[in-house]
Amino acid sequence: MAVTDTDVIIVGAGPTGLALACGLAAAGTPVRVLDRAEGPATTSRANILHARGAEVLARLGAFDGLPEQAVAPMGIRMHVRGRLITTMRFAPDEREVVQALFVSQAAVEHRLRDRLAALGVEVEWGRTVETLGQDAHGVTVGLAGGGYARAAWLAGCDGSHSTVRELAGIGFPGVPVVERFLLADVHADGIADRQDSAGWLHRDGILMAMPMSDPSGNLWRLMADVPDDGRRLENDEIVRRFEELLPARADISGARFGETVWTSVFRIQRRLADDYRRGRVLLAGDAAHVHSPLGGQGMNTGIGDAENLAWKLALVARGAASDTLLDTYAAERRPAAADVLRRTTANTRLLVAEGRLARAVRDHVLVPLMNLPSVQHRATRIASQLSLSYRAGPLGGRGRAPRPGDRVRDRPVRRADGTSSTLTRELGPRWVMVGRIDGPHDQLLAAFRRALPTAAVSAAADQARDGGPAMLVRPDGHLFWRGTDPEDLQRRLRRLVPAGDTAPRRPPV
Ligand SMILES: Cc1cc2nc3c(=O)[nH]c(=O)nc-3n(C[C@H](O)[C@H](O)[C@H](O)COP(=O)(O)OP(=O)(O)OC[C@H]3O[C@@H](n4cnc5c(N)ncnc54)[C@H](O)[C@@H]3O)c2cc1C
Repeated sequence: MAVTDTDVIIVGAGPTGLALACGLAAAGTPVRVLDRAEGPATTSRANILHARGAEVLARLGAFDGLPEQAVAPMGIRMHVRGRLITTMRFAPDEREVVQALFVSQAAVEHRLRDRLAALGVEVEWGRTVETLGQDAHGVTVGLAGGGYARAAWLAGCDGSHSTVRELAGIGFPGVPVVERFLLADVHADGIADRQDSAGWLHRDGILMAMPMSDPSGNLWRLMADVPDDGRRLENDEIVRRFEELLPARADISGARFGETVWTSVFRIQRRLADDYRRGRVLLAGDAAHVHSPLGGQGMNTGIGDAENLAWKLALVARGAASDTLLDTYAAERRPAAADVLRRTTANTRLLVAEGRLARAVRDHVLVPLMNLPSVQHRATRIASQLSLSYRAGPLGGRGRAPRPGDRVRDRPVRRADGTSSTLTRELGPRWVMVGRIDGPHDQLLAAFRRALPTAAVSAAADQARDGGPAMLVRPDGHLFWRGTDPEDLQRRLRRLVPAGDTAPRRPPV
């Protein structure tokens, strides 16, 4: 294969790589996506798309069709020694338009691939990256079986065992959290009712059962921690272990197992990359952070990385912003991942509760506390990742909320031509200036266009608010600036693009 030049090569077509590719392609950045697999993965893996993940997919144009594939139950019934203690509801937050979905990772990836194809990019399957070298102008990767590919920038979205991370020499320190977890996606009757998920806490460990979307109406995900005896377990042994664990930990007898769809045995680890960038190489998703799957944060954090990186890399790749903008990616996203690692580790240790004292606190104090609506609301809010703010980062700011760096909640808006829309729909590759659409607003838009002529911006009037300062919202839905003074806006934007945006315009798709 000949050496090919493009702006960005993405290694890995999991949810992170696909989301990044969609964001870049929508902004008009030439991109290639290489994956070592022979084709798309069909196993479910992640099965919760939290609210922020849903919002990111909507901004990328890859959300439609997913709600139809989701299962309805959004609560977890927690039992201690077989007795129902609490029902934890992922209660909808009335202030939010967007809600979480129980939908499989395979469905999310499918939707992202469709969107990417509509943007004119197809994943190149069967391409394994084996070597990597970078110079002042770009990165060259060597592929298994011969051949090279070259780009100005490379994004390693190649999962927890990332070759890119290793070849770039970025450390991935961490520790194991749980030695052995079993998982089976299996058809079964007689486990529990399918209104909610269920968790059983027992002195020997935990057992979880989550209904999954499937036309049969009896597909379950079962998960449990078990002691690691060092023996490799085959598919049917894993399913047999669940047949034994149901009566032992949940007091459920008579469950009837059918076909097994997927099994897995894994060790839960907590690891965070030392850095997210080495020269022209960037990391995102599981390549940069891994943690417990309990709480369903991994895929959501990966697509959050992708969205944050996409608009910045699009500006840098076309020479519109200096590459220091890319340092704000790690500065904003690494603390977010560190927070996810901290919380998922604490929650997993709490649920697995090793030792008598830890189990007593779990069963008699913490689990009953989860019945309190305030606790449930807070837990749902944290899991949703909607409260995530970059206000403490390099693009953050002071003042009253929302501050620069805070997420701007979705809202109905009116476009300049008078038609109705929502903020989420208007964002994506575009920035949005939210405020009154009048003369002063036009001056703000003109200031934006002077500073960043190659970036797309649209004007939108907040349907519920008339007057007040305008808000400039970044393509990833966070506030960049608020005010009324075009000079002040231009000064802030100039800090993003010290070199000045003089790059030739490539129109966003
Ligand atoms: C049991 C389980 C349940 C989970 N549940 C949830 C959940 O409910 N919600 C949630 O948000 N997360 C969940 N997760 C986590 C989620 O699955 C991961 O965080 C997610 O897959 C990470 O996406 P990614 O794109 O970063 O990496 P991956 O999905 O790992 O994709 C990496 C891609 O890179 C390719 N690749 C690797 N090496 C190379 C190479 N050298 N050259 C070319 N290509 C390469 C691979 O083939 C793969 O396609 C769960 C995980 C597990 C194990």
